[in-house]
Amino acid sequence: MINHTHPTLPEFDYIKLDTLVEASHFLADHTDEARPFLGGTDVFVRMRDGFLTPRFLVDVKHLDGTNSLHFDPQRGLMIGAAVNMNRVIASPEAQEHYRVLVEACRSVASYQLRTRATIVGNICNASPAGDTIGACLVLDGILHIHSTGGTRQEPLAGFFLGPGRTRLRPGDIVTAITLPVPPVGSQGTYLKLGRNRLSDLSIVGVTVLGCPDPCPPLGLRFRIALASVAPVPLIPHAAEAALKGQAITPEIIHEAACLASEESVPIDDVRGSARYRKLMVRNLTEMALNAVWQKLHEQKPWRTA
Ligand SMILES: Cc1cc2nc3c(=O)[nH]c(=O)nc-3n(C[C@H](O)[C@H](O)[C@H](O)COP(=O)(O)OP(=O)(O)OC[C@H]3O[C@@H](n4cnc5c(N)ncnc54)[C@H](O)[C@@H]3O)c2cc1C
Repeated sequence: MINHTHPTLPEFDYIKLDTLVEASHFLADHTDEARPFLGGTDVFVRMRDGFLTPRFLVDVKHLDGTNSLHFDPQRGLMIGAAVNMNRVIASPEAQEHYRVLVEACRSVASYQLRTRATIVGNICNASPAGDTIGACLVLDGILHIHSTGGTRQEPLAGFFLGPGRTRLRPGDIVTAITLPVPPVGSQGTYLKLGRNRLSDLSIVGVTVLGCPDPCPPLGLRFRIALASVAPVPLIPHAAEAALKGQAITPEIIHEAACLASEESVPIDDVRGSARYRKLMVRNLTEMALNAVWQKLHEQKPWRTA
C-alpha cells in the first residue's frame, strides 16, 4: 500500500559486490528481484511511487571501468556507466567534439540532479523522454555490456523495445557507452520543449547533428532523433532521407520537418496532447535543422582534420 501523504521507499537490501562477474551472476540468479542502479534518480523515484519493488538493489557505480571518462582521437569518447552528467559537461574533449551531448546533458533538470544522474542510467531507463538519448543516437553510440557469458557491444540504435524495455537480458550490466569521433566540422543542437525551464521532462525533444560529407552535390549529412513522440526514442528515417544527396534549401528543410512530424506517433498525456506534439515536432525540427545548417554554412569551407 502506497502512502501518498508521506511517500517513502519500500524496504530493500543494498548489494555491493567486488566484481562485474559477481554482480552479473547475482542479477541473473535473482531475476525479477534485483536491479542494478547508478545515480538512483530514476530507480528511487519509481520505488517511492510504487512502480518498482525490487528486493535487492545492486550498486554498480564502483565496478571495473564504470568510472572512466576517456577520449581517444581514433576510438572516440568512452563514458563509463557511473560517470555523472556534470562530469561529461565539464570534460574538455566532450565540449570540443561532442557539444550536442553536452547541450543535452545541460537540459536535464538541475546541477544538483546531474551530480547523480548518468547518461547510461538515462539510456537504461528507456524513457522515450530521456534527454541525452537523442545525442547518443545521432552520434552512433555503442553500448558495452557485461553479462554472465562475458562481454558484448551493441549499437544504441535498436536497443529500445518500448517504454522501459530494452534488449538487456538478466545479468546484463551496461559498463560504458562509446561515441565515435564525429566528422571534423560537425555541428549539432538539442531543442527541448518542456512545461518549464527546470526539472521537467520534455513535451518534445529534437536532436540534430549535421556533418560535412565528401559526397557531392550536398557536402552535408544530417542525423535527427526525436524524444517524447513515440514509444521509443525515434529516428525519423524518412526525414533524414529527404535531406540526403541534394542541395539544402529552406524548402527541403521544411519538407524534412513535415516528414519527421508524420513519422512521430505521440500520445496525449499530462504534458501535452498528441496533436500539439506533432506540430511541435515539425516546428522544432525545422528550427533545429535551420540552426545547424546555418552553423555549418558559417564555418565553410570545412576545416580538415
Ligand atoms: C527531479 C528529477 C528531474 C528529472 N529530470 C529529467 C530531465 O529533465 N530529463 C531526463 O532525461 N531525465 C530526467 N530525470 C530522470 C533521471 O534523472 C535520468 O533518467 C537519469 O539520467 C538516470 O540516471 P541514473 O544514474 O540516476 O539511473 P538509475 O536510476 O540508477 O537507473 C536507471 C535505470 O537503469 C537501470 N540501470 C542502471 N544502471 C544500469 C547498468 N549499469 N546496466 C543496466 N541497467 C542499469 C536501472 O535498473 C534503472 O532501471 C529526472 C529525475 C528526477 C528525480
